[in-house]
Amino acid sequence: MSPKKSSYNTGFYKEPGPILDSESPFESMMERFRFAAEILELDEGLFKYLASPVKQVIVSVPIIMDSGKIEVFEGFRVIHDNVLGPSKGGVRFSPDVNLEEVKALAAWMTWKCAVVNVPFGGAKGGIRCNPKELSLGELERLTRRYTANLLDVFGPDRDIPAPDMNTNEQVMAWIMDTYSMNAQRTETAVVTGKPIILGGSEGRKEATGRGVVTVTLAALNKLGLMPNKVTVAVQGFGNVGSVSAQLMYEQGAKVIAISDVSGGYVNRAGIDIPHALDYIKSNNNSLEGYPHADLISNSELLEIDCDVLIPAAKEDQISKHNAGNIKAKIISEGANGPVTANADSILEQNGIMVIPDILANAGGVTVSYFEWVQDRQGYFWTEERVNRRLNRMMRNAFDNVYNVSEKHKITLRQAAYVYSIDRVATTLKMRGIYA
Ligand code: NAD
Repeated sequence: MSPKKSSYNTGFYKEPGPILDSESPFESMMERFRFAAEILELDEGLFKYLASPVKQVIVSVPIIMDSGKIEVFEGFRVIHDNVLGPSKGGVRFSPDVNLEEVKALAAWMTWKCAVVNVPFGGAKGGIRCNPKELSLGELERLTRRYTANLLDVFGPDRDIPAPDMNTNEQVMAWIMDTYSMNAQRTETAVVTGKPIILGGSEGRKEATGRGVVTVTLAALNKLGLMPNKVTVAVQGFGNVGSVSAQLMYEQGAKVIAISDVSGGYVNRAGIDIPHALDYIKSNNNSLEGYPHADLISNSELLEIDCDVLIPAAKEDQISKHNAGNIKAKIISEGANGPVTANADSILEQNGIMVIPDILANAGGVTVSYFEWVQDRQGYFWTEERVNRRLNRMMRNAFDNVYNVSEKHKITLRQAAYVYSIDRVATTLKMRGIYA
């Protein structure tokens, strides 16, 4: 089923242009949003509402550099939507950050939160800077001034930042402290992804990979495949990829290929994942030279003969150029945007089930929600409780999306958008438009 030509034109969403070789993941996401709106026969006014971010803020962030000179950076925060609750989304530090990108990423967060029934809207932020060129002190001053300039935007009931590209636990701790100093009370719930000692959650680090595996197991079940009878290939061996590989291994699956930026490593007899994890710890966090496997390229890894493929490295890995060569039965998108919109229809024709990123990797935002809940309660859960609740929410989300896909005879990706847009639009209709 291919998207019909849209009758909507809001200015924010581009009309589909010629199929390009390199597709932006954001354009792909926008196209999917428009397709879902058509299936839902979404009222044009609601479409316009959901296509426009509720707030877009650009701040100038001056800091004193270590040299004593003043430097001025540009910071952004976009709240795409706050219909379901306070908005949630990461803050990235990168030389490429710009308003258009932040707007698209904020919308992406709206759909991701809605698909797992987390009561948050979507947001995203960033500072245009090169963090590699900044000292720790400069990064701290940049983070604190950015936060101070956004004190009226952030808040545990308003908008809750999280780590993203080039930001980490330490950056979250500075945001939390700056907000708290201004509020004159400790307000841990204003950010998530904090160190555990500052009100972070057990299980947060592993949450995305754990969620990937929960939905992958649910998908295997739908296809009548036993986890201990399947073969798995994982692209990327960082946070998401390594946890996904480990948990699939623990389920008895044969993980036959893993990879990182140094290349792909294949062993058809199965890779001992705990051993591979020990290996990277002793090898500067790299799989380079991994001895118990043959070296292949990352593109060969994607096309390997296996049951489950988990792309968990970066965007645009499966495009129209290689989609026809994919042999996996299930692709579980650990990364954001690893499959382009052009590749979707090829995979669909070949009967490959794709568990879309907004569902498959939503375990991270789900445990961020748990972190916020725990901070607000001032009562912290065990890792076992976090994992149990995460598994339940991911499993329910998979079932909801699967049912929508069956009902409309559409792919899981289209169904995930239909489900989440319907949820936000229905809530919006009930709340009405305040005037
Ligand atoms: P990470 O930095 O911990 O790991 C990335 C891994 O990918 C590394 O092993 C790296 O070597 C590898 N890699 C980089 N370029 C590669 C290439 N060209 N080919 C093969 N491997 C390559 O990052 P992460 O946190 O695991 O995130 C991975 C993806 O998952 C990203 O798309 C991210 O946006 C997405 N994601 C992460 C989370 C989270 O909670 N960490 C949540 C949602 C989505």
